[in-house]
Amino acid sequence: MRKSVVAIVGRPNVGKSTIFNRLVGERISIVEDVPGVTRDRIYAQAEWLTSTFNLIDTGGIEIGDEPLLVKMRQQAEIAIDEADVIIFLLNGREGITAADEEVAKMLFKSNKPVVLAVNKMDNPEMREEIYEYYSLGFGEPYPISGSHGLGLGDMLDAVVSKFPTDDTEEVEEDTIYFSLIGRPNVGKSSLVNSLLNEERVIVSEIEGTTRDAIDTRLRKDDQDFVIIDTAGMRKRGKVYESTEKYSVLRALKAIERSDVVLVLIDAETGIREQDKKIAGYAHDAGRAIIIVVNKWDTVESDEKAMKQFETKVRSHFQFLDYAPVVFLSAKTKKRIHTLIPAIKVASENHAKRIKTNVLNDVIMDALAVNPTPTVKGRRLKVLYATQVSVKPPSFAVFVNDPDLMHFSYARFLENKIREAFGFVGTPIKIFPRRRQ
Ligand code: GDP
Ligand code: GDP
Repeated sequence: MRKSVVAIVGRPNVGKSTIFNRLVGERISIVEDVPGVTRDRIYAQAEWLTSTFNLIDTGGIEIGDEPLLVKMRQQAEIAIDEADVIIFLLNGREGITAADEEVAKMLFKSNKPVVLAVNKMDNPEMREEIYEYYSLGFGEPYPISGSHGLGLGDMLDAVVSKFPTDDTEEVEEDTIYFSLIGRPNVGKSSLVNSLLNEERVIVSEIEGTTRDAIDTRLRKDDQDFVIIDTAGMRKRGKVYESTEKYSVLRALKAIERSDVVLVLIDAETGIREQDKKIAGYAHDAGRAIIIVVNKWDTVESDEKAMKQFETKVRSHFQFLDYAPVVFLSAKTKKRIHTLIPAIKVASENHAKRIKTNVLNDVIMDALAVNPTPTVKGRRLKVLYATQVSVKPPSFAVFVNDPDLMHFSYARFLENKIREAFGFVGTPIKIFPRRRQ
């Protein structure tokens, strides 16, 4: 089932990013080896009790040099477009301003569920003033303090209680969901069109397509696929849709729903810094990834050129060493038949499970080849490993002390696991755990 999306709207300085950071927290996995790939802090996963949802800080989407009221209107529109529930944040030290009233009107008209939160209520006496906020018409206002972490639980209870329950976007187990991401003009729309027009591909639009993306179903060689096409949704004419952060937001939402992400690169213009950033999002999300070098018709395209270009790709995208590189032309359709099989393989690997006994044979062999390191006189002991989840495949490695498991040793184990089981196209994660 799709995760619910919550957006925070409010004037500058009411505390949106403070709340966002508190709710999201930090999640750093030990195998994270991507220097310089940080997510834009506008969209992230948060958890409350048994719910996991995605949170957007609309304040983080810079809309240009518009007057406050215009900016606020656009941020409210983004929240209305993107979210299932909106947290409308006010500053309890300033009361209700004209801009707040403007936003309130828009949110009210949209019929989206709204939770009204009044921030900077740092001490209990201030809660007396909460009654004034009933006048906005969103029901009970929640007094909170972002910097002190007060009242957030009650607010989140209200948010979670408003999540949609009749979710029509059921995910079909045997269907492979994939999306295309990349800079403007790398050829995302062209590639979607070419794929849909490929031989023996049966295409059908999906009814009740989400508001974020145009989903198209295709069937090839007895396998169902869904393309999540965010590029096709652009150009509805709203000002903010051309801003970079907003397209990032859209890409992140598409990545979220994908099993496999195609990272497109333009062979004609070469690899740019922005390509790496975009690829970093898919990597961070733990999706299977294929690097697609498009416009291969524009360069001299013999085997040697391919090898050379691949070397370049490998050196720029070291963190994607597991991703296969596919060369093709969306325009001439050259080599386009290689794409669907690659997607299938990556998706299978992304969902692959390894039996514990087979896994441990590999781990024990690895330990024999490269004995565990000693840190300050203490030796890491690896007891056994087991796969704890798929998408991406994740392994718990039980050890005497997780602090003794250095990044380089985790990496060595990862390489051994890859040598034994393949896992082309998918990241895998390794978590050291202290044996109970
Ligand atoms: P944004 O512009 O809405 O994202 O607001 P920020 O999160 O950047 O916060 C603006 C300022 O308000 C910062 O100086 C915060 O430290 C401060 N602030 C945020 N939450 C609280 C709070 O609960 N109480 C107090 N006293 N200050 C807060
Ligand atoms: P998007 O912004 O990523 O969706 O890119 P488009 O699909 O709109 O393509 C941008 C431009 O690149 C268009 O002019 C396309 O005709 C061109 N283009 C796309 N794929 C290819 C290709 O494989 N070869 C060549 N030569 N041009 C291409």
